[in-house]
Amino acid sequence: RILTLAFFSCFIFPGVAWAQSQGIDQRVEDLLKQMTLEEKVGQLNQYSGKEVTGPVNEKNTNQLNDIKAGWVGSMLNVKGVKDTRAIQAVALQSRLKIPLLFSLDVIHGYRTVFPIPLAEAASWDLEAIRLSAHIAAKEAAASGIHWTFAPMVDISRDPRWGRVMEGAGEDTYLGSLIGAARVKGFQGEKLGGTDAVMACAKHFAAYGAALAGRDYNAVDMSPQMLWESYLPPFKAAADAGVATFMNSFNTLNGVPATGNSYLQRDILKGQWNYKGFVVSDWGSIGEMIAHGFAKNSEEAALKAITAGSDMDMESVAYKKSLVKLVQEGKVKQELVDDAVRRILYKKFELGLFDDPYKFSDAKREQKVLNDPQHKLIAREVAQKSIVLLKNENNTLPLSKNTQTIALIGPLVQSKRDLAGSWIVQPGDTTIIVNLLEGVQQKVGKKTKLLYAKGCDVKSNSQAGFAEALQTAKSADVIVMAVGETWDMSGEAKSRTNINLPGQQEALFMELQKLGKPIVAVVMGGRPLIFDQIADKASAVVFAWWLGNEGGNAIANVLFGDYNPSGKLPMTFPRNVGQIPLSYNFYNTGRPVLNEKNIVYRSAYIDAPNTPKYAFGYGLSYTTFGYSDLKLSKSKIAPHEKLEVSFTLTNTGKVAGEEVAQLYLQDKVASLARPVKELKDFRKVMLKPGESKTITFTIDQNKLSFYNQELQWVAEPGDFKLMIGTASDNIKLTGEFALAE
Ligand code: BGC
Repeated sequence: RILTLAFFSCFIFPGVAWAQSQGIDQRVEDLLKQMTLEEKVGQLNQYSGKEVTGPVNEKNTNQLNDIKAGWVGSMLNVKGVKDTRAIQAVALQSRLKIPLLFSLDVIHGYRTVFPIPLAEAASWDLEAIRLSAHIAAKEAAASGIHWTFAPMVDISRDPRWGRVMEGAGEDTYLGSLIGAARVKGFQGEKLGGTDAVMACAKHFAAYGAALAGRDYNAVDMSPQMLWESYLPPFKAAADAGVATFMNSFNTLNGVPATGNSYLQRDILKGQWNYKGFVVSDWGSIGEMIAHGFAKNSEEAALKAITAGSDMDMESVAYKKSLVKLVQEGKVKQELVDDAVRRILYKKFELGLFDDPYKFSDAKREQKVLNDPQHKLIAREVAQKSIVLLKNENNTLPLSKNTQTIALIGPLVQSKRDLAGSWIVQPGDTTIIVNLLEGVQQKVGKKTKLLYAKGCDVKSNSQAGFAEALQTAKSADVIVMAVGETWDMSGEAKSRTNINLPGQQEALFMELQKLGKPIVAVVMGGRPLIFDQIADKASAVVFAWWLGNEGGNAIANVLFGDYNPSGKLPMTFPRNVGQIPLSYNFYNTGRPVLNEKNIVYRSAYIDAPNTPKYAFGYGLSYTTFGYSDLKLSKSKIAPHEKLEVSFTLTNTGKVAGEEVAQLYLQDKVASLARPVKELKDFRKVMLKPGESKTITFTIDQNKLSFYNQELQWVAEPGDFKLMIGTASDNIKLTGEFALAE
């Protein structure tokens, strides 16, 4: 009865929620009072436990002894009910029996592998993205995990950087919405349920702007750029209630993010009043020595705790020196207490003190990890992530009764590649559907499927060409699957060249001579360059790494069971020399007005300024018409809102979804402004011939930017409004003014 009363009183008396959090605060304080300095520092220490459950050796024996002695607050890389239970039992032998937090990089799925995050961003479908994170959380939580190191909300405009695969692409507005959707998906309504995990907004901050796209490299950036483009997705994650932040490996204007008080204390814990805790990146406290920012591990610990890094992932600097630093008066006890409080609060919120094993139920693990629904959701998210780049003469969709289809290329049969980087169970490729299997399940009995690999992704051998040509000769259509291998994107996978590796384009050129339609399916973890294919294939489908259901999702698109609706979340350049390249660039004093007029203009002499495929671009099997643009006013007063409406019509023959995009430009301001910035979008399903009125609301916030004094202001003056199907394909334009 008391429980029921407590449950209902939450709704009847909103004060009860407050009282509950008061309750946690009190419990944290009570516990803190009982803790020795060593036990407090122990809570700030996180070990990687890959070895803990393996055969006994010196390292894992030491780790287990440390856990028992209360020297460890969290483990990463221990997973599964059996192992997490066993290690938690060790923690419960410590004097104060403080449970461990089990953390893991659950980046795009736990057992069910979803598309890589960049692919999901191409769906522009926030609900699908939330759901994908929710399923990942559900599976991870059933398997003993409390905390994922996701979402990565780093904006990046450099496809050489291998970690673009983990983010939402180049745009701050889209990236902020996606970051918040992922946080909500991972964490659910409220922490403490057994189908949710704590999320972690990473890498704070500006990690995606690493110089020249080389991972871990230095970042030098204006305060305006930092505040306007790189911080908002973190703020959005904080506003969505993200439980933790991770700092980053890079320096920002000379100061390592891990030792950066401006980022962690002034902005995050100060201005944003963030109450969760900050974990360092792997060993990043110790890495401040290599940066030349700390002379030894003790100084690194001092700088990191002072700057607001609460938990030390794997550098052991806190464990080695924090007790001494406090005893010598170099670090104030309050700093340690504050960090410990933040971590303990989360352990209470998760309910671990009430039941340290609540995430360790073997039966639930078995059931959740084998839920057949998850696979269907993964397929839906995967098909939404696919971007149709080209479709000459309606080559696609293919008929299911095509007589002979030749599947050619190194990625036709690959399974591991489809899962992409950052997966939790690398050995488990049995549940991945490859392209060949996807197509096999789709076509009718009379269709003959032929297959030849032709070449490897990376090797320079053309030995397989002859067989591929022979195979393709008798086909009506060739479906070619090419791209990177899964391990060419991800952490530490920067490339100076983002072409298709090896002989893949050479193979394409040979196949092309057969004079048959070629449908290219290009896979990879980043924007790629594949000019021959882009220019000469009949159709091009960009399929990223789509996860377990990749083959089925691609087959659904190829045969028209799903009408592609994805739009690029990142610019595809024509060549690496154009990088960094994004749609929201600034005009120069000498813009290129047309291709003939480029002398003494801001242009290259050997390539255009424009990308191969622009941000927001993606085709459908139908077409859409944009008409009847209406603005509620031509001039708005400060704090007034402008309503912009237009009619979107499906002008083709099949049902389809369009992502209508709203861009704005501040025409004259106290700082030069980008030529356009995404400010809103709507993804709409329309039947053939159907029309819908779409309305966007423009408020002060959408007109604001950081001025020279770093104030967020909307300056009076004229604005240009653009609505279109891609950043470089604007269908409707208008103008309005903001009054003084
Ligand atoms: C990565 C993080 C990741 C951590 C733990 C680091 O190398 O930068 O994103 O969460 O490892 O695996």
